[in-house]
Formats: sequence, C-alpha cells, structure tokens
Amino acid sequence: MSGLTDKLKEGTHVERFHMHIGGASVEAASGEWFDSMNPATGEIWAQFPKADARDVNLAVKAAHRAFEDGAWPRLSASARGLLLHRLGELIAENAERLADLEVRDNGKLRVEMLGQMKYLPQWFYYYGGLADKVEGAVTPIDKPGIFHYISYEPLGVVAAIAPWNSPLLLAAWKIAPALAAGNTIVVKPSEFSSASTVYFAELVAQAGFPPGVFNVVTGFGLDVGEPLVKHPRVAKVAFTGSESGGRSVYLNAATDFKRVSLELGGKSANIVFADAALDDAVKGIVSGIFAATGQTCMAGSRLLVQREVHDEVVARLVDFMKTAKLGDPLDKSTNVGPVSTPPQLAKVLHYIDVARSEGATCVLGGERSRRPGCEKGLFVEPTIFTGVRNDMRIAQEEVFGPLLVVIPFDTEEEAVAIANDTPYGLAAGVWTRDLERALTLPKRLKAGTVWVNAYRVVSYMAPFGGVKASGLGRENGIRAIYEYLESKSVFINPKPGIANPFVLG
Ligand code: NAD
Repeated sequence: MSGLTDKLKEGTHVERFHMHIGGASVEAASGEWFDSMNPATGEIWAQFPKADARDVNLAVKAAHRAFEDGAWPRLSASARGLLLHRLGELIAENAERLADLEVRDNGKLRVEMLGQMKYLPQWFYYYGGLADKVEGAVTPIDKPGIFHYISYEPLGVVAAIAPWNSPLLLAAWKIAPALAAGNTIVVKPSEFSSASTVYFAELVAQAGFPPGVFNVVTGFGLDVGEPLVKHPRVAKVAFTGSESGGRSVYLNAATDFKRVSLELGGKSANIVFADAALDDAVKGIVSGIFAATGQTCMAGSRLLVQREVHDEVVARLVDFMKTAKLGDPLDKSTNVGPVSTPPQLAKVLHYIDVARSEGATCVLGGERSRRPGCEKGLFVEPTIFTGVRNDMRIAQEEVFGPLLVVIPFDTEEEAVAIANDTPYGLAAGVWTRDLERALTLPKRLKAGTVWVNAYRVVSYMAPFGGVKASGLGRENGIRAIYEYLESKSVFINPKPGIANPFVLG
C-alpha cells in the first residue's frame, strides 16, 4: 500500500491525505488544505486537499477517458465482477483500519463502525456477482421480418456524493452497482469525513481496477459538489445528503437532463401500539434514535405511542436511557458518542430550544453534556420531549441528532394519519403483536421502508430509499443496478428490400 495514508499512526499529530485522480495520488490544484476535527476530542487530526472545479475537471476527464478507452471497456462483465469481489476481500482485510478512520472523522462508536466495515464487503460480493447476470431480451416484435432485442449499457461517468454520517457505507451503495454495471466514477466524500474514502481508493488500485475508473475529489459542497454535478461529461449523479443539498443537485442536474438518484432526510415515525411487546419496543425505539447519536437518515425521531401505554413507555424509555454511557467512541463500553460536527451540535441545541419554545416537555437530557470526559467533545445528552403535537416544528423538521419527540394517539387511523403527515417518507416502524395489523399497516404508511417489530435493519439485498422529500430512486437490491444502466432498443431488418416510404399500407 502506498500514499500518505500508509503513514497514519495512532496519536494526535495531523496527517495529510491525498486525493486520487486517474490512478495518481494528488494534491489540489489550489495547493490548499482543509482540516478534519475528531468530534470526540475537538482536535484537528487530519487534512485533505481543498479541491475546486479544476480538480473536478481533471477527475471527470480521467473517468471519461477510462470509460471510453483502455482496459475497462474491454473487460468482460465476469472480469469486472471478479475485480469487485477482490475489492470486497481487501475491505474485509482492512476493516479495522477503515473503522478507525471513520471513528476519528465522525465520532461514531467504534463497535458500530467496525460492524459496518465488516459488513461492507457484502455489497462488493453481491454486485460483483450480479455484474454478469444483467441480461437483455429478444422481444416477439410485432413488425414482420424485423429482429428486435434490448440490451443494457453503462451510462458513462457517475458522480457519487456522500454525507458524513456513514461515509464509506453510503458511498459503497453507489460505487458497487455503478462499477458492476461498467461505469466509471468520481466520488466526492463529505468535507467532514473524507479519510475512509481516500483510503478506500488505495484498495481499489490494489484490487487491480484500471486507472481512472475510480477517482476521489475532496473538498466542500459548493467548490467540488456543484461543479461535479454541473460537469457536462457526468452522466448520472447519485447523492446522499440533506434535503436542501438534494434540491440543489436535482436543479443543477436538470440543466443537462442528467440521471439523478437522491437519498435524503427523514422524520420517521416509530409507532407503538398498546398490544406491543413493550420491552422489545423500548429497545427498538432506543436503537432507532439514540444509536449513532441520532445521526442516521432513518432515525425513528417521532415516537407515536398509543395513549393507554404512553406513560409506561416513556417511563421505561427514560429508565433505559439513564443507563446509557456517553463518552469516548473508541471505548467498547460507550453507548452514545458525540455528534459529528460543530454545525450539527449547534443545530441539535437549536432544536432543543425550539422544542421548549413550542411548549413541549423535556423528560430527559435537553442540554450539551457536562459529564466528565465529554467536556471538550461535541456531546449532547440524549433528549426526549413529550407533549408534542405533530404540527410543531420539532415534529416536522429533521434534527439529525439524539432528540426524540413523543406524540400520543388513540386509534390506528390516527396513528397512520400522523405518521404520514410530514414532508418526508423515508422509513417507519410498527410495534404490535396483532398479525392483521402487522400485515396491513405497511401498505398504508408512506415510506420507502417499513419495519414491523424491528428498526434500522438494512441489507445489500433490500431496496432502500424514500418517497416525498426523502428522495428519488432506490439503492441496494438487484434492481439498483438498473439505476446505472440504460436500455437500448435494437431493430434489425435482415432482408434487403425496403418498402417505398411514399407508399403507405
Ligand atoms: P449535506 O447535504 O450537507 O452534504 C452531503 C454531501 O453533499 C456532502 O458531500 C456535501 O459536501 C455535498 N454538497 C452539499 N451541497 C452541495 C451542492 N449544492 N451540490 C453538490 N454537493 C453538495 O448533508 P450532510 O449534512 O453531509 O448529511 C446529513 C444529511 O444526509 C441528513 O439530512 C440525512 O438525513 C441525510 N442522509 C440520508 C441518507 C439516506 O439514505 N436517505 C443517509 C444518510 C444521510
């Protein structure tokens, strides 16, 4: 393994990472660098090239060259699949290292990030296996004497733009199907968490992908993300991030009619019926909102509880969360880590103020953590507000932090109406022992994913994405590869003798 990342050592000194363009490890054209802070300690631990439109242009050109000429377009689909499989193996071998990088950048618990990195190879095995199973079709065309077939072809250069909360996992949801389909790619990681993606680029090279097939450009949304989306040689943009970022991407991509998939935010309802196994429900509520410090798009941030068990569920929840240990994400006994970025800290604290000013009642937390060991980091106490109405801002707007609002309901009808009454539609949870309800309710919930007696389960096999302001398109599962393919319709007339076009019928 080569490059500066190889020199990464445990410790507090600042490491410099490079971008990857056209198979080379490079600095930004500007010669400038930006810092990445460790959210658990508040210290700057790494620097990345501060790229701009010039670097984006070089990366897209390299990706375009690799798509048009050279080894990549000549590879068989099976050979592409084997490369993806090899990449999966390298990720598995480097899972510890990748997890360390993620934790320093985004402050999530090491146990969670290690689990995520150990699971990540599955995306590359799955889409590697799928690469040579994309079959076209011969149609029974209604035109006499004409032979017609449909084939699927890669799009060209894919731009993948990722957020900071699960940086490499969410990039991989784009990278694996895009490469399996035969595209080339330029990845722009979040400015808050670029380390794992630039390290990953070294694994891509080591796996044997030809230069230019995979490129990484580091920097900020307006300097790198926007020029990437607007670049005329980019055929498709796959974006995960905020609603406002997604809107900007969608509008900019529209100018050239680029293909777009958007995985955006959520305000997902976790609905507990009185007949639920309440112990399980409480664990599901906790993992839905306090795991990853609430910084998941699918966070179950609105808890809807049937009125007869409302007080009991809230009491059990508060008791459970009082046992939570906040602190160093590297410590295996830590349950809740810091929020990941200073703007995110400010946003969570702002929404705590909003909840109070709207008249909600704080029954847990409600402040920046003052626990020993948490003073310098970006820690917020796990927070629960009761007495919330669904028309309050705190029930409608995405916070993306450890903040849960509790809304009581009486009937199933009312629960469905409240659950669906937000601009978002990413996910929902239902807790019930009623089989009929378990079978019928998912259809009525306007969300891309519904869990019954479970929460936050995802798989490379299961399509994931949102409706309404939660986005467009689906990642994961077999059909996700078609987000990176275009169908072509071919008509062949094998016999000479074309009819006179002026004589119809
Ligand atoms: P963000 O929108 O601020 O940034 C996401 C990425 O887009 C970053 O790399 C950023 O630099 C880039 N970017 C920002 N503005 C851009 C622009 N105008 N053009 C192009 N690129 C631009 O989001 P974030 O704060 O990094 O991530 C948190 C958000 O992501 C939350 O809203 C969360 O719900 C969402 N998210 C969604 C999913 C999902 O699968 N639906 C998963 C994780 C996170």
